[in-house]
Amino acid sequence: MPTVAITVDCEAANENRCFTPEIVKIAEEFMVPVTWLIYVSEKVPTANADLYYREYLHRIPSWHEIGMHVHFENQNGYVEDERARGSIIRMAKDVLKSHLIKPTSFRAGCFSLLPSDVKYLEDVGILVKDVFLAQRVGGNVIKAADQPPAIVLVEPPRHVVTAGESAF
Ligand SMILES: [Zn+2]
Repeated sequence: MPTVAITVDCEAANENRCFTPEIVKIAEEFMVPVTWLIYVSEKVPTANADLYYREYLHRIPSWHEIGMHVHFENQNGYVEDERARGSIIRMAKDVLKSHLIKPTSFRAGCFSLLPSDVKYLEDVGILVKDVFLAQRVGGNVIKAADQPPAIVLVEPPRHVVTAGESAF
């Protein structure tokens, strides 16, 4: 029996449509653990945390995982500045905390994790074990389909697992 895990980028508030109930149903039917990565950016700071807190978190089985999905973007577009990215990471942690969400995983949006982000992640309690991952991402935004996205799965207390892409 293969091991299957699925990550879902929870960006429904940006899109005005959401398949969470359907995904929960399928995950329960096939006993597949899902990591729900709640989207936060400076451009759309709390809309997805609000939506999931209000509508969906209570429907997500406790054996699933909740994570933080950060897009490094603001009203002017993609954010490159190291300290500005650090403050987005801090803001994301605070947004989730204010919605009683303790993220145990992380994924950067658009494959855009940079090595300089690692220390800011560690500051908010996300230990990046796989430095190779961060180095491979380098200073570029990886868009190639054959590259896995930057995903760092963590479990408190600071035990870290890294994983590649999955469906959704
Ligand atoms: Zn995303």
